[in-house]
Amino acid sequence: MKYRILGRTGLKVGEIGLGGEWFNGLSAVACTEIIDSAIENGMNFIDIFMPQAPTRDNLGIALDGRRDKFVIQGHLCTVFEDEQYGRTRDIVKTKKSFNDLLARLHTNYIDIGMIHYVDSDEDYASVFNTEIIEYAKELKSNGVIGHIGMSSHNPIIALKAVESGLIDVLMFSINPAYDMEKSDTDIEDLMEYKDFKESDWIVDEARQQLYTACENLGVAITVMKPLGAGSLLSAESSPFGVAMTVPQCIHYGLSRNGVKVVIVGCHTVPEVVEAVRYYDLPDELKNYGHIFATNNAINMTGRCMYCNHCQPCPSHIDIAAVTKFTDLASQQDALPDTVKQHYFAMKTNADNCIMCGKCEPNCPFGVKIRENMKKARLIFSCDSK
Ligand code: SF4
Ligand code: SF4
Repeated sequence: MKYRILGRTGLKVGEIGLGGEWFNGLSAVACTEIIDSAIENGMNFIDIFMPQAPTRDNLGIALDGRRDKFVIQGHLCTVFEDEQYGRTRDIVKTKKSFNDLLARLHTNYIDIGMIHYVDSDEDYASVFNTEIIEYAKELKSNGVIGHIGMSSHNPIIALKAVESGLIDVLMFSINPAYDMEKSDTDIEDLMEYKDFKESDWIVDEARQQLYTACENLGVAITVMKPLGAGSLLSAESSPFGVAMTVPQCIHYGLSRNGVKVVIVGCHTVPEVVEAVRYYDLPDELKNYGHIFATNNAINMTGRCMYCNHCQPCPSHIDIAAVTKFTDLASQQDALPDTVKQHYFAMKTNADNCIMCGKCEPNCPFGVKIRENMKKARLIFSCDSK
């Protein structure tokens, strides 16, 4: 593991961090094994946004006696209500959920209090003009959190927060598909961002501006979705039409300005080992230039990243899971039994969708969720009885 200083926080963190999302549903033993492996492999950074009590409890058990081995990026404003993950700007719920996080992790401090998922001007105001930011500041002044952070997928909103001086850490979604839309520019020029305004590459200028501002202002970027929720790892699902490897995705994230940690969601010990294998590889195996050798690069708009930011759903549908199973089924000639079993093991599925559309404005990627629900119904309908 190599370490970087987390911007102006001064914290020393491993470049590859552990994403906690996939701890949902794991036992305390399985969580402990992953934490064991993370420590053995030099990881010292973990992101915990999950509001689910069992997940927090199991992580608390896994971290018992070694809390100080991790820099914890713990989220403010996530809640678990009506058996669903959600985000809130309600101060009472925010305080209750954060106190619950501390209690279940058996700790009295969180290194980075990460204000969860701010992607619009309206939402920015609902955080930075309200008691939410005051609560975060109070936690910081009391030493309950070391630093304030914010997570976002929107470079304009993220830059606003970075320039406000109020956050020290930005959790941002970064991978090549988010950053670039077309390719016919020489890869070397692209990677050095030479004259990209004049190039035919469509590199999102707002993102470059954000990354540069973070680097210049000492606001550390911790990268989420470096693998595009796994879609970049296969030619079939990658928007570039070619598969990347986990090390290539990590290398891409670590190569951006401002980035200090790339967070990889690990569900098993082998996935931890796979992530840190990055350091065993020669440079040529980390090189991600091949994905730009095609002219059919497209952006990720409309592609589900399985993040469930679209929650809450009044019908309590796990939208990410329904979409994932539908995508998996779509990629096969015949509906695989395992996918079918997982789909029907859920308490609710696309059949319960009332087509209210409440989820769609919450999706940062513009996914047409109702269309996906209709597709899921079609694919799984013959097996639903
Ligand atoms: S529909 Fe959008 S918000 Fe919902 S899981 Fe997919 S990408 Fe995430
Ligand atoms: S459209 Fe369907 S999936 Fe979306 S919030 Fe409404 S019921 Fe839930």
